[in-house]
Amino acid sequence: MSDVNTDEGDIMYGLKTVLAQIEGAVARRSKDLPQVTPKLVAVSKIKPVSLIIQAYEAGQRHFGENYVNELAEKAHNPQIIEKCKEIKWHFIGHLQTNKINKCLGSPGLYIVETVASERLADNLNKQWVKIRKSDEKLNIMVQVNTSAEEAKNGVEPSQATNLVEYVIKKCTDLNFKGLMTIGQYDYDTSLGPNPDFLSLVKCRQEVSEKLNLDINDVELSMGMSTDFEHAIELGATTVRVGSKIFGARPPKN
Ligand SMILES: *Cc1c(COP(=O)(O)O)cnc(C)c1O
Repeated sequence: MSDVNTDEGDIMYGLKTVLAQIEGAVARRSKDLPQVTPKLVAVSKIKPVSLIIQAYEAGQRHFGENYVNELAEKAHNPQIIEKCKEIKWHFIGHLQTNKINKCLGSPGLYIVETVASERLADNLNKQWVKIRKSDEKLNIMVQVNTSAEEAKNGVEPSQATNLVEYVIKKCTDLNFKGLMTIGQYDYDTSLGPNPDFLSLVKCRQEVSEKLNLDINDVELSMGMSTDFEHAIELGATTVRVGSKIFGARPPKN
């Protein structure tokens, strides 16, 4: 693979730079927001196992993948299993019903961030009980389509509380961890705060008030390579960063 960013020094450099930028953004974050240290999810889609191992050896533990087949393949990779014992995988893509078992069977799966319907929540709950190897619940986030784009997955912001309530009351083997959004790409922040991120912050307010949850316990997963600092300033507690760590991906066709 001829990628400019494939040598070890670069991965370390990329990670360190992003972690320093996260710290800087935390310092600028409004003091009325929950003072949670943001979690960095290194999004490794399309990138080879060797780079994941390098990032792991540099201290990174949370990794994100958005294709089930790729997640399952990497999670089962013997080198990953041997060298990355504490790896925590985040599934961040669209999850089709026929791929649920494959996703849930991935060793080291930590969370499914993209639950966007009662049907998916029910199916995950049912299959998790059959597949899991301990009594642990499956961590999930509810995905919200804050930018109202048809191509993006997620419930409408007005439906977020209903879906969270459903998960908490009906899906007893799922553990609700927070809300996730992608939002519009390339938003120009000179126009002010990204309205999609503000929308997710507002969803959290509503979810925690209506369902009586401690706001500090409801995570917000938002922000990618181009906007994670901005997202943190607005309250992100999880950022999903790929190319800024691993180098650019080839454009989608
Ligand atoms: C690819 C992807 C990311 C990371 O994108 P970068 O721009 O490379 O940081 C984050 N979240 C989701 C859902 C993705 O699919």
